[in-house]
Amino acid sequence: MASNIWVLAETWRGQVTETTLELLTLGREVAGQSGSQLEAVLLGDKSLAASLGAADNVLCAANVEPTPEAVAAALAQLVKERQPQAVLVPWTNLSMDAGALAAAQLNVPFVNGCKDLKSDAGTLVAQCVVYGGKLEAAVSATTASTLFGVLPGSRSAASPGNAPTVTDVAVTLPEAKVKFTKYLEPEAGGVDITQQDVLIAVGRGIQTQDNMELANDLAAALGGAVCGSRPVIDQGWLPLSCQVGKSGMQVKPKLYIMLGISGAPEHIEGIKGAQVVVAVNTDAAAPVFNASHYGINADLFEVVPALTEAVKAKKG
Ligand SMILES: Cc1cc2nc3c(=O)[nH]c(=O)nc-3n(C[C@H](O)[C@H](O)[C@H](O)COP(=O)(O)OP(=O)(O)OC[C@H]3O[C@@H](n4cnc5c(N)ncnc54)[C@H](O)[C@@H]3O)c2cc1C
Repeated sequence: MASNIWVLAETWRGQVTETTLELLTLGREVAGQSGSQLEAVLLGDKSLAASLGAADNVLCAANVEPTPEAVAAALAQLVKERQPQAVLVPWTNLSMDAGALAAAQLNVPFVNGCKDLKSDAGTLVAQCVVYGGKLEAAVSATTASTLFGVLPGSRSAASPGNAPTVTDVAVTLPEAKVKFTKYLEPEAGGVDITQQDVLIAVGRGIQTQDNMELANDLAAALGGAVCGSRPVIDQGWLPLSCQVGKSGMQVKPKLYIMLGISGAPEHIEGIKGAQVVVAVNTDAAAPVFNASHYGINADLFEVVPALTEAVKAKKG
């Protein structure tokens, strides 16, 4: 029998995350193909093992802080000792640091952006999203214990199933340079941009914070909300919860209007689910026009007030 397939269990506010359960579904498929067992690795609260019944066994080390440094050190230690065939790590903001660190410590590849994984005649082959979703690559893992960063949504979540067997494991951690202090989440009452039908996205082309009023007026006229590209969030003109893109939110509005955004892949990655995309940009060669259904090659300071007035007039 081949060595086991592992899933690193990710936890947030005392619960196992949905992505972990998705990885257990995928891990079960791969374990079935390679004739091996599926194990979850739980680094923290042992009581959460009850949610991981989709695995054959849960390896639990209870003394690990939820910091990338501690999780990586613990995972690397366990991999060295037990030599799994592969480790599936959630490719999320919570876990990607830990996965990359552990792979570096083990000197094994970290294949990230995986949306699928199969065992093909004993070799694990991952289907990976590269260049911000522009291309897909099939990556074969030729090294034992390769780590795979698997994207959220790769499978449906596994149901908890029966209580799994739990194996307590001990890890020795280096002295912590980073300590977990508290969870930080978006301010309560803020707009949830992932749930909006209409979004007005503002980019660096807006120039100043005062000019944000133009976007607010258009959003109010259309019954939508304002979000932004990273430079606008970095300036503090919108909260972090309003950033769209690779390191922000994935949105799926019916209408997404982009004002003064160049169309960098990291931004476009966040709007794959938008139904109609309209871009306003003074630069006719801006890449944003390749990613939009309608392009307005003009100055936003002329277009936006006129558009707002036209919407208001239409609505009466
Ligand atoms: C690891 C990583 C993660 C990242 N994650 C994200 C992310 O999640 N989200 C994100 O947005 N970015 C992200 N970025 C940054 C990204 O690469 C771009 O730098 C950023 O998206 C550019 O923002 P922008 O389009 O607003 O600004 P710019 O690229 O500076 O574009 C401004 C645009 O405004 C146009 N313009 C100027 N004046 C006007 C006017 N008067 N009227 C109309 N158009 C005008 C210009 O022609 C230009 O095209 C990330 C980068 C990295 C490396």
